[in-house]
Amino acid sequence: MEVDRRTEGPGGVSPAGVRSPGPAASLQLDTAIQFVRGVGPKRAALLGKRGIRRVEDILFHFPRRYEDRSAFASLDSLRPGASATIRATVLGVHWIPTRARGGLLDVVLTDGRSTLHAKWFNGGRLYRSKVFSAGVRLVATGKPERDRFGSGVVLFNPEFEIVPDGDEASGPEPAAYVPVYEELAGVTSRQLRSIVGAAVDGLAADIEDPLPGEMRGRLKLPALHASLRALHRPRLDDDIDRLNRRRSPYHRRFIFEEFLLMELTSARERRRTRARDGVRFATSDVIRERVKTILSFHPTAAQKKVLKEIVDDLKAPHPMNRLLQGDVGSGKTIVAFETVVIAVENGFQAVIMAPTEILAEQHYINARRAFAPLEYEVALLRKGSARDDPAVLDAVRSGRAQLVIGTHAVLEESAGFHRLGLVVIDEQHRFGVLQRLRLMEKGRHPNTLVMTATPIPRTLAMTFYGDLDVSVIDEMPPGRTPIRTEHVAEQGRARAETAIRGELAAGGQCYVVYPLIEESEKLDLRSATEGFRQLAAAFPERRVGLLHGRMKSEDKEAVMHAFGAGRLDILVSTTVVEVGVDVPNAGLMVIEHAERFGIAQLHQLRGRVGRGRRRGRCLLMTPDRIGNTAVERVRAVAATTDGFRLAETDLKLRGPGELAGTRQSGMPEFRVADIVEDRDILIEARDEAERCVGDAPAADALIRRLSGGRGRANLTGVG
Ligand code: ADP
Ligand code: MG
Repeated sequence: MEVDRRTEGPGGVSPAGVRSPGPAASLQLDTAIQFVRGVGPKRAALLGKRGIRRVEDILFHFPRRYEDRSAFASLDSLRPGASATIRATVLGVHWIPTRARGGLLDVVLTDGRSTLHAKWFNGGRLYRSKVFSAGVRLVATGKPERDRFGSGVVLFNPEFEIVPDGDEASGPEPAAYVPVYEELAGVTSRQLRSIVGAAVDGLAADIEDPLPGEMRGRLKLPALHASLRALHRPRLDDDIDRLNRRRSPYHRRFIFEEFLLMELTSARERRRTRARDGVRFATSDVIRERVKTILSFHPTAAQKKVLKEIVDDLKAPHPMNRLLQGDVGSGKTIVAFETVVIAVENGFQAVIMAPTEILAEQHYINARRAFAPLEYEVALLRKGSARDDPAVLDAVRSGRAQLVIGTHAVLEESAGFHRLGLVVIDEQHRFGVLQRLRLMEKGRHPNTLVMTATPIPRTLAMTFYGDLDVSVIDEMPPGRTPIRTEHVAEQGRARAETAIRGELAAGGQCYVVYPLIEESEKLDLRSATEGFRQLAAAFPERRVGLLHGRMKSEDKEAVMHAFGAGRLDILVSTTVVEVGVDVPNAGLMVIEHAERFGIAQLHQLRGRVGRGRRRGRCLLMTPDRIGNTAVERVRAVAATTDGFRLAETDLKLRGPGELAGTRQSGMPEFRVADIVEDRDILIEARDEAERCVGDAPAADALIRRLSGGRGRANLTGVG
């Protein structure tokens, strides 16, 4: 019976989209799970609830680790710290009520020669379930520790399996490497081992391998059938250490497969973008001269390099789609302005989108100043412009406004451009890719420059922004000294006040920043307002200002202006200052509740200080006790100012799916692959993808094969 492999049953076990069984060793990947030996209707229903409906679903539930049961350790050979697997018989069971830990279950084991205690904290449930009683045999794995409550070594909360009565004496399995599975819907590792084993044994030899044989041969990747078998039924001549590190050739094959699908989709997208007709700009000596008039300093070598990359794009017939990456303060804005000159001199309108009104206003002020010598008409679109300021809108529509600046929201709603040739999107991580695409549809494929300070590890940028080319400003303007960052717990609060006094005495200015998290907006607002009052009281001779998102646009601007002009000494604000604000005289930033910010955000924030001649300083304030990952985040930010290193840490702590803005970029969730640990394989897959997309129909077919049947439609979500 042929059925569509991509059809999914609605829930539970559905005969739709799955095959009926045939003779022995004839399971197909899409055969319903209930036809696997050992899976009755009840268990099939249980597994179905967890999305395991077909043979391949269970086969892709890979072992979490492997145990070497070819050689059990004798109980008297256990040493603290060295993980071991033992086989033993229960001698006695003791329940020790404790106040702190919810009771301790103490099980005495013997292997006939000596004894060992295995102890479970919070062992109440285990005790009551009467799993252990004298004479019960078991296999247990764990890391022995010195026993604080007794003598010798002890296994605390080991993983274990009971050896059922009647099994031959050697253990639950004949001597072998044994895969250990994550429990699924109440089906234990041991039960899963037998189900998956049956599925592998029954698998038809001719199942289709989505990776072409030629490619597998070239890249030395084992075939699908053999790989599934090797992972679920490892043999003693396999390398158990590599299996446990997910570094076996079989793991590599599946990791590669997942990456290849993702890389193929984005390579195809890049290719399609390049094939489009776009707006083509010319450059000339006159234009080059005009570009120079907007510069008030010498561009860094890095700024020159990326401008050249941009100019090459602009001159090409296809539209530019470029990501400009540069750490906070690296000078992206001026590069964008240079690009604007080229667009305007070619007779086109340019638009700069910013994530917040304040940043849009900041760009507007800078742009007015920069473009004054060229007498460009610069328009600022605000919330409500359409209603309150028809003249501005008219300037945009008629083409009189040569440069338009606004937030993405405003631009999406109301702007119809006369002749849009360049779109600059600042601080991309605040936008979704979807928004970007929508805007690009407004012009006839205008050239697009996306700027971000979210430092994505270099090797990953192309993956996260699959359809974009990437330029990196990897150099700071001269004369910057790295910001000094310290973590200050509540008990050290006096240091913050001393630091503020010091900064003000030296003629500088301070930011004090409070988090603003949407769910608790009111509360956060109150803490910022409260902080403002306290500071105003503590520094009666100083001018303290307050800035938050709820204020009216004019009021915000007035406060920012006052701070920028040095008429305020301390600015208390919610995170509205996060991006782009540029006040060189501000040398100190105090971030309250730093534990509530992410790494990227903290790094962005502190980039607001130390832009002038003096060295910047940032204090990360937290309560005395905070969670482990919060500590790691805060310490990481205090330890380095290297945005790329921080991005790596961020990635490790949060996983790629959480990296700012990447969810919308279509970053898939992988079953086996790990974008950080398997980066070498990722690069291999990318190279292979680039090679494949040259032959478009073949690439399309491969994408279909790779995404077919495995419930992995989300893997093609790129772009
Ligand atoms: P970001 O990349 O964070 O957007 P900006 O474009 O705001 O950085 O630049 C940060 C500061 O550095 C601004 O004050 C800008 O005028 C200044 N700057 C940029 N490029 C240079 C340069 N080549 N030499 C000196 N100062 C520069
Ligand atoms: Mg900026």
